[in-house]
Amino acid sequence: MPNHDLTWNTRLLYPAPDSPELEADLGSFQQLAADFRTAYFDKVAALDTGALLAAIQEYEALQTRMAKPFCYAHLLFAADSGNETYRALSQRCSELGSTLSQQLLFFDLELMELSDPRFESFCAHPEAGEYIHFLEGIRKFRPHTLKENEERLLTRKDLTGVRAFTKLFDELSASLKYRMELDGEERDFTGEELLSLLHHTSPDVRFRAMTVFLERHGEHGIVFNAVFNNMALDHGQEMELRSYRTPIQPTNIGNEIPDDAVEHLMSVTEANYGLAQEYFRIKAGMLKMDKLRNCDIYAPVAEAERNYTFAEAQELVVASYRDYDPEFGTIVDAFFTERRVDVLPRTGKSGGAFAMGISPVIPPFLLLNYTGTLRDLATIAHEAGHGLHFVISQKQKMLNYHAPLPLAETASVFGEMLLTRRLLDNEQDPVVRRSLLCAKIEDIIATTFRQTVLTRFELRLHNERGSGLLSNDRIAEIWLEENGKLYGDSVEMIPAYRWGWSYISHFIHSRFYCYSYTFAELLVLALFQKYREEGDSFKPGYRTLLESGGALSPADTARLAGIDITDGGFWQKGYNALAILIEELKLTL
Ligand SMILES: [Zn+2]
Repeated sequence: MPNHDLTWNTRLLYPAPDSPELEADLGSFQQLAADFRTAYFDKVAALDTGALLAAIQEYEALQTRMAKPFCYAHLLFAADSGNETYRALSQRCSELGSTLSQQLLFFDLELMELSDPRFESFCAHPEAGEYIHFLEGIRKFRPHTLKENEERLLTRKDLTGVRAFTKLFDELSASLKYRMELDGEERDFTGEELLSLLHHTSPDVRFRAMTVFLERHGEHGIVFNAVFNNMALDHGQEMELRSYRTPIQPTNIGNEIPDDAVEHLMSVTEANYGLAQEYFRIKAGMLKMDKLRNCDIYAPVAEAERNYTFAEAQELVVASYRDYDPEFGTIVDAFFTERRVDVLPRTGKSGGAFAMGISPVIPPFLLLNYTGTLRDLATIAHEAGHGLHFVISQKQKMLNYHAPLPLAETASVFGEMLLTRRLLDNEQDPVVRRSLLCAKIEDIIATTFRQTVLTRFELRLHNERGSGLLSNDRIAEIWLEENGKLYGDSVEMIPAYRWGWSYISHFIHSRFYCYSYTFAELLVLALFQKYREEGDSFKPGYRTLLESGGALSPADTARLAGIDITDGGFWQKGYNALAILIEELKLTL
């Protein structure tokens, strides 16, 4: 029976925000952190292996205890940010969290400073195995870390440097208002609203929405130019100070993906741009246009979209997982039956969707804003996949609980594929099949090809800034060149697109993050293709991959499911899966 209470039950964590249990937890942390500091500050280098192991385990236990009340506060606030009690609790937890991390920061720094022989003798200890990856994660930045007083100085000057430019970018972007005529009436729009008009049925509306959005950015070209130039110059100087060879290297070290694997990922992607071009031509045909403009890429291909009640959606998602593995179905179903999901949009509730994995001893929760569209249905499958991953990786201890960043989207995207496959297999109507396939293919194009275009642009921007200031004409030239490689002659870029780089916040907030999307999507396409080829024998390896959480590097984790990310053929396997989807689409025409 579907459960009809669609809010989550936070009493699974604490009885109430004013309960003595919560107060006892929150009230104990300052002392625990202070005791830990007294015991280990300035002493880590001198600990013998057994004592070091005990210290790490104590640190881990502290992290596990802290996760529960902090996540509880976050859940309450996300569900109702207008509630004064929740606001106060959330504020208290964030201040306490910051105090505690300042108290405990020394431990990471001293672990980073451990000499190589000390680290090696630690690794040889029979019980140290599960902490080696955690320590490596801290130690990998050691060659690029400066002296403590230099680090402090940099952090201090960042406030008026790189962080000031980031803030300027955010404030300017958030302040932009747009005016456009729609349905005979001229009115104001937010940027989000304009971008969602790219899904409008009218070609004219799509063109004007994209043009108005980008030209408004162009009016502030002087500011965007200063932000992009200074961010790149700042990074260039820091690269020099920290002895990095290339602008992308710090990101790759953080992701634990070798430089040449990233380069290979991108060049295989570029070699497959023809697949995207083929799709764009097919789509132009479906829209009865001679040629697609880049404002038409997300145009709807069917007049009316199908809607799903939440009960239907829940059933479909659970069944997709259950068909793959009955236990996966049970785990996903438990989110609904145990009320660990908040389903409907409300005033004061946070937007979007998320899955929150708390710790290996507390069950995860999901937040949705379900309105009944196919996109929303896919979002349930996506977040349920994260939730499943969080449950299965509870085999790990806290420091290995969270999957490494490039693998964090594995179970979620895999779950979406299971759902798409189920919908396609049960759908006879070619028009509905066509919409399903287009939605999936466009999703894949956006997370693979487009992210590679963005990364190539970003690389060129950083490299060219090294030899002088870039004008907006030059930035636009690089931008259009990289996009032109993807579109070829299959898509015409509208004139305002010369400002297409200026609103992408990843460039400002998380340098070179974009290729992680390509990595994740291709990994899942390859895994899914492997599953289709191997059937049941694929399943144990995939399960082990999910179970390992963050215990291993991305390459070692992928190897558990029989995938070698350093092998050139691997990435191509993902694109072969995309080619199959495009062939399936052609059959519906
Ligand atoms: Zn996700």
